[in-house]
Amino acid sequence: MARRRWEPLHRSLCAVSIHEPQLRSGRRLAAADAPADPHTNTALGLAGRGIVYLVGAGPGDPDLLTLRAARLMGAAEVVVYDYLVSDEILRFVNPRAERIYAGKQQACHALSQDEINRLLVALARRGKRVLRLKGGDPFVFGRGGEEAEFLARHGVRFEVVPGVTSASGASAYAGIPLTHRDHSRAVVFVTGHLKDGTTDLDWPMLARPRQTVVIYMGVTRLAEICGELVAHGLDPATPAAVIERATTPRQRVVTAAVTSLPEVARAEGVKPPALIVIGEVVRMREALASVAGAAAASPAMLAA
Ligand code: SAH
Repeated sequence: MARRRWEPLHRSLCAVSIHEPQLRSGRRLAAADAPADPHTNTALGLAGRGIVYLVGAGPGDPDLLTLRAARLMGAAEVVVYDYLVSDEILRFVNPRAERIYAGKQQACHALSQDEINRLLVALARRGKRVLRLKGGDPFVFGRGGEEAEFLARHGVRFEVVPGVTSASGASAYAGIPLTHRDHSRAVVFVTGHLKDGTTDLDWPMLARPRQTVVIYMGVTRLAEICGELVAHGLDPATPAAVIERATTPRQRVVTAAVTSLPEVARAEGVKPPALIVIGEVVRMREALASVAGAAAASPAMLAA
C-alpha cells in the first residue's frame, strides 16, 4: 500500500514525527470540527473520484484559515502537510484522516518535490480526497504551481484554495501596512532562496524608492540582501523589519535601518520562518503596533 511505501521516508528523514491532534482550550472554528460524513461530502461536491485540494493554511493563526480550508480539512481522507503548518492548524483536520508529513524546511525535505508530486497522484488515483496543506498561500512561493502542473499533466482533478500569505499576515499583525498612499505605491514579493541555492535578485529594481519589498526565505542571507540593496542605491536610512513566526503566539518583530538590520537580527537570534520587510511603511509600526498590531496577535483579545 502507498502508505507503507512512503512511511519509512517521512519517518526517517528530518526526524519529525506525524503530529496527532491535541485538544486545547480556545477552539474557535466549530464548523471545522464536524466529522467527515457523507452529507457534508455531498454538500461540498466531494463524492466520487479522487481529488487533490491544494489548500493554503495561512501563516499560523488558525483564525486566519478560510472557511473553505476549514471545511475541506474536516472532510479530508488523507492530509499531506508541510512544516509550516502548525499543530494548532492540524487540530482542524478530520481525526480519521491519514497524515503524511512532507517536510520542506530549507535543507531538510522529508520528501523531495518529485516524491510529493508522485504521492499526490498515487493517492488521488486510489480514489482519495487528498488535502495538500501548505503554509500561507499555495501559489505564493509554495510550489503550488509545480504541484498543480504535475496533477494537470497526469489528469488528476484538483482545486486550489487560497490562503492568507505570510506577508499579509505579518503586515497586519506587526502593524506595517504593505502599501500607503504617502509612503509606498508598490509592493514586491521576492524569494531570497532560489532553486539552485543562490540569491540572484534584480537589485536595481528592488532598490527603487517609494515601494515596499517583502523577502520570503531570506533571513539566512539578510546581510547579503541588505548590503546589495544599499550598494544598488537604496537609502541606507530606509527602515526595515524582520518578522519571525508572524501571527503566532511566538511572533517577534525586529526593526532597524536597513544597514544595521543584519546586526540587530543576529544579536536577537532571529531564525526562519521569518520575512524581511523593507520600506518607509515600516516606520508606521511605531504608531500602529502598540494599539492594533500587538493586540491583534494576542489570543486574549480574539477571545474577548
Ligand atoms: N506559501 C507561503 C510561503 C512559503 S515559503 C506563504 O504564502 O506565506 C516559506 C517562507 O515563507 C518562510 O521562509 C518565511 O519567509 C515565510 N513565512 C511563512 N510563514 C511565516 C510566518 N508565520 N512568519 C514569517 N514568515 C513566514
